Amino acid sequence: MEHVSAVPFGMGFTKPHNYREVLRSAWDNKRQPLFTWRILRDGVCDGCALGTTGLRDFTMKGIHLCTVRLNLLPLNTMGPLDIRVLEDVASLRSVSSKDLRSLGRLPYPMLRRRGDAGFRRIYWDEALGIAARRIRAAPPDRIAFFVTSRGMTNESYYVANKAARFLGTNHIDNSSRPCHSPSTTGLKETIGVAASTCSYSDWIGSDLIVFFGSDVPNNQPVSTKYLYHAKKQGTKIAVVNPMREPGLERYWVPSVPESALFGTRFADAFFPVHTGGDIAFINGVLKHMIEKGWVQDTFVAEHTTGFEALRAALATQSWEELERQSGLRREAMFDFADLYVRARTAVFVWSMGITHHRFGVDNVKAIVNLGLAGGIVGREKCGLMPIRGHSGVQGGSEMGANPKDYGLGFPVDETNADRFQGIWGFRPPTAHGMTAVGMIDAAHAGGLDVLYMAGGNFLETLPEPDYVQQALGRVPLRIHQDIVLTSSMLVDPAYAVLLFPAQTRYEQRGGGTQTSTERRVYFSPEIPGRRIGESRAEWEIFMELAERARPDATKQIHFEDARAIRAEIAKAIPSYDGIQGLSQKGDAFQYGGPRLCEGGVFPMPGGRARFTPLWPPDSHIPEGQFLLSTRRGKQFNSMIQGDVDPLLGAHRRDVLMAQEDAAGLNLQEGDEVLVSNDLGSVRGTVRFAPIRPKNVQIYWPEGNVLIRRGIVDPACEMPDYNSLVRIEAIRSSRVGP
Ligand code: SF4
Repeated sequence: MEHVSAVPFGMGFTKPHNYREVLRSAWDNKRQPLFTWRILRDGVCDGCALGTTGLRDFTMKGIHLCTVRLNLLPLNTMGPLDIRVLEDVASLRSVSSKDLRSLGRLPYPMLRRRGDAGFRRIYWDEALGIAARRIRAAPPDRIAFFVTSRGMTNESYYVANKAARFLGTNHIDNSSRPCHSPSTTGLKETIGVAASTCSYSDWIGSDLIVFFGSDVPNNQPVSTKYLYHAKKQGTKIAVVNPMREPGLERYWVPSVPESALFGTRFADAFFPVHTGGDIAFINGVLKHMIEKGWVQDTFVAEHTTGFEALRAALATQSWEELERQSGLRREAMFDFADLYVRARTAVFVWSMGITHHRFGVDNVKAIVNLGLAGGIVGREKCGLMPIRGHSGVQGGSEMGANPKDYGLGFPVDETNADRFQGIWGFRPPTAHGMTAVGMIDAAHAGGLDVLYMAGGNFLETLPEPDYVQQALGRVPLRIHQDIVLTSSMLVDPAYAVLLFPAQTRYEQRGGGTQTSTERRVYFSPEIPGRRIGESRAEWEIFMELAERARPDATKQIHFEDARAIRAEIAKAIPSYDGIQGLSQKGDAFQYGGPRLCEGGVFPMPGGRARFTPLWPPDSHIPEGQFLLSTRRGKQFNSMIQGDVDPLLGAHRRDVLMAQEDAAGLNLQEGDEVLVSNDLGSVRGTVRFAPIRPKNVQIYWPEGNVLIRRGIVDPACEMPDYNSLVRIEAIRSSRVGP
């Protein structure tokens, strides 16, 4: 396997300093060494959705740990904040979100009424009483719940789902909306399942792994260990992405001595498409495969429908058009097809570079088309994997914290309402439920009375933060359930804002479960140790509020403990049968088994998967403008952990652009620029990056001010996180003549 350098530890290269991070984390967690160690040793990581049990996983032997987890640890181990800082929120408005978090854990329920300068401590009884009265007084259609995935367990998602329906509303959504909702929609409509069809272990020994719009070294760091072992067995890696991501080019895998010392070269081929050029690129690959007779005809004939419609659609698309829309010459498409056809097995992995578009569902369907044409679904070392970035997010929608489903496999309709009435003892509503995007629009229009947000921060995650701020300020009662302070809690209330202090997943009685990207449901035990003030298990708060709002029917919503919730999940959502038996560290099961659609049998009409004829969306970039996308640096979701992106060496205010674009604007590296459109502007510093010309990137969520709200994928309401911008010099940092 090819090393990166003979110089040990990548000295002289821009790369993460993993061992230094370990030491820094040890220092950050020094106040609770035993508690910290127990969380690491026994808990399921609350970082990304790769999944752990303690410091192990089910894919490979050896330690499973990364700096994302270490950087999140202080949230689980730090002490309470001094609630006096909340007496006047004006002084907190200029504090960064990072510094707000570091003030400490929320220890008590807090209340701020309209006109108050800040929050005051109240008791749970009063807090729940205020919330329950407001909920009782509100028509159910004016109550909404948003449940983010920060450490959230399946149990908490499930009880939130049930509580929302119990209170008469389907307005419940979770953070998979601005994440992988196009994947669940696109997969469900084409292959009948809405999750990864394969396991991580299918990477190792596969002939080819393709990353579409996915930068796993940054977002799922331990996956680099899997890639190392895959490469060792001869796997080829291809990357389809506007940016030649350095972490996918080469990485120093800290848990593999050889790689930690000399680095490992990963990608064998990069295909730098235009941002949003994936459909055109894939269509070109398919067109070439058809022309060459490289499609897996037997698989297509026996296991799919719609191929002729796809073939006909591709016949109308000229190579010139596909080249223009994808940004790549046809020879690059031929090269990809060549790589693909030589592979007997292949796994396609994708992330937000695919989903964060107004045509994210079609992007996913294009990947499915390619996978079906090569027959790579339902076989060993093969599969389609929408890799998840948040630990709990796979389970969020599957537990029914979703406006369109009561639970995995049970869309909101009359038949399923009857079914859930049989389990729950009350009939859930069947009216249309709002997504997160719809909730903010409804709030802005004065259409919500109560907005209950468990975790998350819409101010940082949705486009046009000023609009979101106005929307939040118009909701009479906002409830923020969280472990720490966020900027959205500081938005002035229309009537009142309540803060509900939550426990982390490690503190909740009876433990909890989490579902990983590969559909493995892990048990994370309750970790003995210190607790914070009056913080409570998230599921208990949802439940008790529902009981207080409808005291006539408490039996229908009451759970004695987490075990009782798991027992009910097993009944309500049969795919999760087995969850009722999870009770110890290390307990886990993979629903659906290692692979879904095994043998090419799809849970679709006739057992056949469906091809989709697709036409590339117009990706024309007007003269003088650039197509902006947003990227993640040293951060976890919107939580920024450091100013420097360790993989690129870029600072958060850097504007990443191709050197030839900069030259066209007479700019040099280090020049100050204004990136703007009719929504707003961001000041930044030019940094040359290996990105397709005419495409630029800035960091998110800072870039949200340039992203237009209301442009969403109509099939799932995923916001389009890309935008056309202009770039102009402010002043030159150059000295000399
Ligand atoms: S790769 Fe993901 S699951 Fe594994 S330790 Fe890091 S953040 Fe946690």
